[in-house]
Order: sequence, then structure tokens, then C-alpha cells
Amino acid sequence: MLTLKDALDGATPEVKALFTDAEAQGWKVVRVTSDLEVRMACSCSKRHNKWFNARPATPGYEERYRLLLVRRTCWQEGGSE
Ligand SMILES: [Zn+2]
Repeated sequence: MLTLKDALDGATPEVKALFTDAEAQGWKVVRVTSDLEVRMACSCSKRHNKWFNARPATPGYEERYRLLLVRRTCWQEGGSE
């Protein structure tokens, strides 16, 4: 059974920062799959939830993912720049 710790072991600083920000906003990790995709869910009444790849192969994935969160969920961007 994989945990968030497995997903973050060897992850880039950008990925780690995203999960730090997520926890600060009340998001919780609900599942980690064998290919280290992480499903996280927010704590608002709409229960937004999204898959995130903890081992992104493309540069800028984490940055684009933040923009997606802002557009599609209650994510509040800020403080990381
Ligand atoms: Zn939400």
C-alpha cells in the first residue's frame, strides 16, 4: 500500500511544494496508485478532487496543474511565487 511519503520520495521540489500548499488549504490525499499518481480532495462543500502525477515527465507540469486547480476547483493560488 503506497502512501504520500512514497509518492514524495524523490519527487521534485516543485511537486513537494504543491503538496505542502495543498495541505495548507485543507486538501487531503485520498489515494496513491502504483504509478505514483495521487488523488487529492479539498475540504469545501463541493468536494473537488483531482489526480496529480507525482513523477511528471514534462517540464512545467506542476505549474500548469496549479492553473488547472485555480480554474476548476476552489484552489487559492498565491504565496509560492
Ligand atoms: Zn473545493
